[in-house]
Order: sequence, then structure tokens, then C-alpha cells
Amino acid sequence: MPSPKRKHPTGRPPKAGVVVFSDVDGTLLDFHTYSAKPATAALRELKRLSVPLVLVSSKTKAELEELRKVLGIDAPFVAENGGAIFWPKASVTVKPKGAKPVDSYWVREFGTPYATVRKVLVSFREANGVKCEGFGDWSSETVSKYSGIPQPLARLAKLRAYDEPFLFNPPPPEDVLEKHLRKLAAGGLTVLQGARFFHLGGQADKGRAVRELIDWFAATSPVKPRTLAIGDSPADWPMMAACDIGIAVKQPDGRYHPALRDHKGIRLAGAPGPEGFNRMILRLLKQLL
Ligand SMILES: [Mg+2]
Repeated sequence: MPSPKRKHPTGRPPKAGVVVFSDVDGTLLDFHTYSAKPATAALRELKRLSVPLVLVSSKTKAELEELRKVLGIDAPFVAENGGAIFWPKASVTVKPKGAKPVDSYWVREFGTPYATVRKVLVSFREANGVKCEGFGDWSSETVSKYSGIPQPLARLAKLRAYDEPFLFNPPPPEDVLEKHLRKLAAGGLTVLQGARFFHLGGQADKGRAVRELIDWFAATSPVKPRTLAIGDSPADWPMMAACDIGIAVKQPDGRYHPALRDHKGIRLAGAPGPEGFNRMILRLLKQLL
């Protein structure tokens, strides 16, 4: 976070009072098109006010690097549902607590290695005769088919380090599904429900990584920032619970996920995905800064 005394390119002192944590798929990016275009005005305003936008996603480091490049974002980010935090060394003056240097980043890992997660998924389906498959079983063409991620970005989605997105094919009835999910998690792993896939991973979640980042922002900022978290699915709830304000955007069917909608105090964006992001972030920036 820049010091308030530092000269800003626009001549305006940078605002250090707010940090935005955002889910990516179905929130900052449209569920179907993976476009952030409807959020353009809010993204511009975040930049103008020097408000850090921290991407907190089930996406891989490689996918988030690509997106950050396209959107011109330089804040730290969280990959694979809280598997790890990446701080670009170029924008960090003090080594974050517990982080190790990896290439151009300081990295704090929370996730279980991907090979271990895959082994659990494969043993589970073999032992129980269950038809479920994940990104590790699929070519990048198949990942693209099931996720809608355009080629060649689907190749980056397969470069996983901690978290395995998977599907039951065909989907079992609700009571059988619950039994499967309990069995999968029995060995100490966690199953999260995203908007398109289930995610199998270790004890990491978006909340743990976001709490760590809030402490880091508080320690490196002149004032303790207000924190906003915005998302569309139950996997986003832990990061919302860690922040001052939690915001749900609508899903593509025009409804909020019931697991988010029913939480007391959650703000409802009034629109789906990036349109909801745009509306709510512009409104809150005006109120808070
Ligand atoms: Mg999402």
C-alpha cells in the first residue's frame, strides 16, 4: 500500500482506507462470457482512488497472472480457493510473515499439494465405484467444454497446485451426493461448492488467506483499512465473514445463492456478476471514501 506522503501520478494523495477482496468467476467476470467489461467503471474508480483489488479465486496462479495483466492490477492475490497468497516482490517493501520467495513473488502456502488431493479423488471413485472426474482427468479442450473457459486459457486452468475442481457425471440424488462428499472429506480434506464445480482441497479456504492479508494490509498501511468482500457462491462466504462488508452478486439465473442470501448483514448487489460488482463497488466507494 503506498504511503499517503508519496507523490501520486495524478497529484491526488492515494487513499489507503479501503481494500476490496473479490471472487473472479461469476463475480468480477461474467459467468458465461468470462468478460469483466460490465465492471469497467468500478475498476477505473478503484485505480483512480488507489484502492487495492485483491483477486481471491479458485483459479490458478497462471490464470490470475494473465487476468491481472489484462486488467492492470498489481495487488497481492489468492489462488486456488485459498491454497496460497502471492505478493509481487516489486510492490512489497517488507517480506510478509511466513512467506517464502518463489520467482518474482513472496508466497504463503496454506493448501495441500495437488498430487495428494488427486490421489484422494482417484482412490475414492475406485473404492466406491463413483463416476466423478476433475481437471486432472481432462484435456484442456474438455476443461474448456465443461467450464466455458475459452481456449487457450483452459491450458492455464490445468496448472494446478492445491485444489481440484470436479463433477459427478451423472449427478447423483441429493442424499447420495451428501454421502459422497462426506466420504471425500473424511481423510482431512475439504469439499467446497463453487458455482460450476465442487472443489477438493486441503484445510485452506478463502477466509484464512483473506484474514492473513487483512493483517498484512493493516500492518503496512498508515490507517487500518475498511475491508469489502464480494462473491457469488458458498465458497466465498469465509472471505465475506472475514471482512467488514460482505456483498453477494446474483447468479446468472437472476437469483442469489441461498447460502449467501440468508446471511444476516450481507449486502445484495442487485445484479449478476460484473454488473453487480460495478454497481455495488461504485456505491460503496462513494460512501466510504
Ligand atoms: Mg464465483
